[in-house]
Amino acid sequence: MNQEDIFKKIISHCKEYGFIFPSSEIYDGLSAVYDYGQYGVELKNNLRQYWWKAMVQLHENIVGIDAAIFMHPTTWKASGHIDAFSDPLIDNKDSKKRYRADVLIEEHMAKIEEKINKEVEKAKLKFGDAFDEAQFRATNARVLENAQKLKLIEDRFALALNENNLDEVKQIIIDCEIVCPVSGSKNWTDVRQFNLMFSTQLGAVAEESGTIYLRPETAQGIFVNYLNVQKTGRMKIPFGIAQTGKAFRNEIVARQFIFRMREFEQMEMQFFVKPGTEMQWYEYWKNTRMEWHQKLGFPKAKYRFHDHIKLAHYANAASDIEFEFPFGFKELEGIHSRTDFDLKSHEKYSGKKLQFFDPEENQNYVPYVVETSVGLDRLFLAVIAQSYLEETLEDGSIRTVLKIPAFVAPIKLAILPLMKKDGLPEVARKIFADLSQTFMCQYDEKDAIGKRYRRQDAIGTPFCITIDHQSLQDQTVTIRHRDSMAQERVSITDLENLLLKGLKN
Ligand code: ATP
Repeated sequence: MNQEDIFKKIISHCKEYGFIFPSSEIYDGLSAVYDYGQYGVELKNNLRQYWWKAMVQLHENIVGIDAAIFMHPTTWKASGHIDAFSDPLIDNKDSKKRYRADVLIEEHMAKIEEKINKEVEKAKLKFGDAFDEAQFRATNARVLENAQKLKLIEDRFALALNENNLDEVKQIIIDCEIVCPVSGSKNWTDVRQFNLMFSTQLGAVAEESGTIYLRPETAQGIFVNYLNVQKTGRMKIPFGIAQTGKAFRNEIVARQFIFRMREFEQMEMQFFVKPGTEMQWYEYWKNTRMEWHQKLGFPKAKYRFHDHIKLAHYANAASDIEFEFPFGFKELEGIHSRTDFDLKSHEKYSGKKLQFFDPEENQNYVPYVVETSVGLDRLFLAVIAQSYLEETLEDGSIRTVLKIPAFVAPIKLAILPLMKKDGLPEVARKIFADLSQTFMCQYDEKDAIGKRYRRQDAIGTPFCITIDHQSLQDQTVTIRHRDSMAQERVSITDLENLLLKGLKN
């Protein structure tokens, strides 16, 4: 099965098993907006909790807030979003399809890189242990030719973006002979900038001054509260403020399921540091965040860093943690060194001082900021995509299982009386009443036990316990492990400890 088919299966699995539904589906949905169902919301909550614990609970110098989605409109002037939060768009005149011009070029570059990698892989197979990859890359004519091509495009593209030269962006598309994937033609419009912020009106008066925006990032809610938190929390630099919440972007092209949505959730942390120390903290947070992702237990090769070639207007360094989704390596989290751009700009527009008095230096300064910003929905997609498996069993049958890391699984334990009689449901319900105090449990007595196991596999439940007639005699149950399907007999009184152990991360 190719990756595209697997991705389609994952999307339909998410819908069929109550993880994600298209928004307002009875009206045929709303483009790039999704609702989380009964299991989706549990997984999402657990992932948010995993982040909050790592960032807030485990750091004595990081605290959390929950700022409003609506903010004073000057916030977005100060942050640069009104003037610069836009993407370059281009239309194909034949198919009438709209694209992000930068993405067309990036995808073209990725194809060239793929060609190079294929050449390397081929040589690796041919030469075996004797293969010297560095030497091959430095000497092979085809690799060198493609690498040079790539470098040329990369340099032109970086310059065009930095100079905001949209004609040059179009020229690159033409020179690279990029065609519309739908019409196959090179009949492109000019490139123009499109602001991604949604606007609405505050109150009843529909005047220009009443225009407010749905926040396109959660970060600004943290910047405007910098002083409130610093003073009331008596925070000393370096310290961080974290928050999770909805953000809204009128994305030009919103495909790939929940990867790019118009309403999504971010988990962001701004770390305020002494000017001059930001690069050290930037490296620290890059590594710390990568370790956090890898603690989910998926293969390390699924993650990589990607340093930005074009820096946002506020940054002096930026890197993405990319994950290999079914449609390739794409951004999962951004780590940005934002300098003192935001606080200084808010000082300018608000007329309020947003500084820190450093007792060691005996002076005031505007702190620098290193930001970590991960999309909760993208994290959700990474987890689901990596967990989805179709396993062929010994008897030739296929089971679909979500091998979600146990500690974030939506349902931790399924409680299954073997039969609906002889007092088995009563024992099972008593176990449910006890263990649901600590774990998200599900009680299920319908259908044959094999079918019930499959249902739990499909939603990623790491443990199932079965209550049978022996349970009535000796207060034991069988516990079945999702990944190995192994079963063992354990005492009911040992269950809670066993589960606590099995759900540690
Ligand atoms: P991209 O380049 O993919 O548009 P970005 O660089 O604009 O993303 P940031 O502004 O750095 O993204 O936002 C931080 C994080 O928020 C991203 O790493 C991503 O996980 C998430 N995110 C951004 N835009 C969306 C979206 N439209 N839908 C879902 N998640 C998003």
